[in-house]
Amino acid sequence: MQTIGVIGAGQMGSGIAQAVAQSGFSVVLSDIDERTAGRGRDGVAKALDRLVAKDKVTPDDAAAALARIAISGTVAAMSGADVIIEAATEREDVKRRIFESVAAVMGPDTILATNTSSIPITRMASGTPDPARFIGLHFFNPVPVMGLIEVIPGLATSAETLARTRAFAEALGKQVVQSQDEPGFVVNRVLLPMINEAVFVLGQGTASVADIDKGCRLGLNHPMGPLELADFIGLDTCLEIVRVLQASTGDSKYRPAPLLVKYVEAGWLGRKSGRGFYDYAGEAPVPTR
Ligand code: NAD
Repeated sequence: MQTIGVIGAGQMGSGIAQAVAQSGFSVVLSDIDERTAGRGRDGVAKALDRLVAKDKVTPDDAAAALARIAISGTVAAMSGADVIIEAATEREDVKRRIFESVAAVMGPDTILATNTSSIPITRMASGTPDPARFIGLHFFNPVPVMGLIEVIPGLATSAETLARTRAFAEALGKQVVQSQDEPGFVVNRVLLPMINEAVFVLGQGTASVADIDKGCRLGLNHPMGPLELADFIGLDTCLEIVRVLQASTGDSKYRPAPLLVKYVEAGWLGRKSGRGFYDYAGEAPVPTR
């Protein structure tokens, strides 16, 4: 059985750990300390309980998947893992420090993948132990539900790394879209300008949160409105992505909406902080504007 390391046990890392464990792989899930990693696994336990309650997974399969996830406060326990997936905070300095620490635990065939939403793969590859074995593996939220993974080879990624990574993504039951290493790859390049524009529309007082989302749900036939989706992704992550798009293209069309910056400065990061464009304190989300 293959072992997969997942670094970062936030909403994406824990979702990746769940999807990987449910596909039969052993997982080592790490974060800045063991307690934080444990919170990630607790989240997986709750998600699996919900699947059992809905009869989508048997209690035995849920228990077996959870038992396949080990937690750790360091990357040391990932020694010799077949694939290590970095899913930590969307900041290049954070990720670069992680890649340095991973050098000591990478075996000769280990693939190092990053779940970054927007930071260039080729640029980050230069700070990794072996750029030929470094690749972008971009999951979608919530990972156990969403059927897509973007695979992004950098300039130095080998053909073998690309083939093994595609096979791994398919072993998780996901469909693969391959993208060149261009800002935002495919999906976020299209999505984030829409989310950012929705925040401009809100900030200019054109319509309420509820009406912007309703308009896009019904008028564009999207299952979720852009503001609801932004809360789901995390407003800090959305802001980082538009900033990366702006900085890497130099195109002012990607400038962040001032209201998005303000929400992040206020610590209103969406679902994960309990408040974003909606308030999540009660049973159902309540629009805030
Ligand atoms: P998050 O804030 O929920 O989780 C980030 C986690 O990284 C936290 O638990 C934090 O403690 C941990 N972390 C920070 N520094 C670390 C370190 N040095 N070592 C180990 N762990 C560390 O964020 P998220 O939404 O899970 O995003 C994680 C990554 O996934 C980002 O690169 C983001 O761009 C990408 N991503 C996010 C989404 C989304 O919808 N949120 C979708 C695809 C990709």
